[in-house]
Amino acid sequence: MSPSFQDLFGHPPEVEAEAPGRVNLIGEHTDYNGGYVLPMAIPQQTQVALRRRADKRVRAFSVNTSRSGEILEYELGQESVGKHWLDYVKGVTQVLQREGHALTGFEIWISSEVPLGSGLSSSASLDVAILRALRELFSLPVEDVPLAILGQKVENDFVGAPVGIMDPMAVHLADQGMALFLDTRLMRFERVPLPRALDPIVINSGVAHNHAAGDYRVRRAECEQAAALLGVQQLRDLSTVDLLRAEKLPAPLGQRVRHVVTENARVLAAVQALRSEELDRLGNLFYASHDSQRRDYEVSVPEIDLLVDIAKEDADVYGARLTGGGFGGSVVMLAKAGTGSDAAARIAEIYAKRSGQRPSVLVPQAHS
Ligand code: ADP
Ligand code: MG
Repeated sequence: MSPSFQDLFGHPPEVEAEAPGRVNLIGEHTDYNGGYVLPMAIPQQTQVALRRRADKRVRAFSVNTSRSGEILEYELGQESVGKHWLDYVKGVTQVLQREGHALTGFEIWISSEVPLGSGLSSSASLDVAILRALRELFSLPVEDVPLAILGQKVENDFVGAPVGIMDPMAVHLADQGMALFLDTRLMRFERVPLPRALDPIVINSGVAHNHAAGDYRVRRAECEQAAALLGVQQLRDLSTVDLLRAEKLPAPLGQRVRHVVTENARVLAAVQALRSEELDRLGNLFYASHDSQRRDYEVSVPEIDLLVDIAKEDADVYGARLTGGGFGGSVVMLAKAGTGSDAAARIAEIYAKRSGQRPSVLVPQAHS
């Protein structure tokens, strides 16, 4: 059994907070182009418990990553990057202090059901859970959208992960059973209920790409280059009529632009389809998004394509697509209500046989 806060620190915590993981339903590689995304919160949560200290010391423990009873420590104001999970805690305290918020040291206990490094945003879930807890503990005057922006800063400025605003916004502002339709340029968002007729499924392919961060940077740079050549600030500023011009760009920029422009249009269509409960249409948008990621954005891998192809054959599934940054990772699917668990198990089994990989069903949550 993992040690509790009381076991580790010898007294109870003062505040507890939690934040879920997220899965992006549609709108991939659009957030850093100022476009639209449609993530939803998943049932798995990261929980944190904290207690203030009189000095400047931070003492931290994570059930997920600490060896039994191992408490890591640092001094507020002396945060240094260690390429280690503690960077997420250090990043939060550094970013808050730089914004002028006064903190004292604290003890923190962390425990997450969100699988780490599986594309369900365990990191944003951790950042946001810590930010929520510190906001409460020190009565910090931080509103909701600024809190999500702080979460992004932790990853961009301290951890060194070039992530967009989608993850912390989804984790902080999408409620359970709701999708968050977010305009990342205007930072406007709306919560869209998921129809009762749908069971979301997430299956991890078991394939992790070691150079994913490098490839992600290349895609971002290609988008910036294409935007500059087309004379716009961000690819968000283009519409389908601009695609003819984009086709004349040096390869592969034209196809990258086509993905971003058509993906933005698919997010808008998906929001409409959700609202009118046109589930077949929604499913087809998922398959079209997957094709676009595979052919135009080139972020899929054969195993992920296989998972999508198996889903296509399944009578209970409306649609499926690669979710997250790509080069491995997970597929999100929409199944008929009541069939999600069975369909996920069936698809994962066929996939395991054909690919030789060891998939895991992440949503609906596999019970251990
Ligand atoms: P993802 O966010 O998709 O899960 P990332 O690579 O962005 O993947 O973040 C995973 C990293 O975040 C982990 O390797 C670890 O450093 C940190 N992390 C996330 N959750 C926890 C946790 N509960 N305890 C300790 N570290 C965590
Ligand atoms: Mg992350």
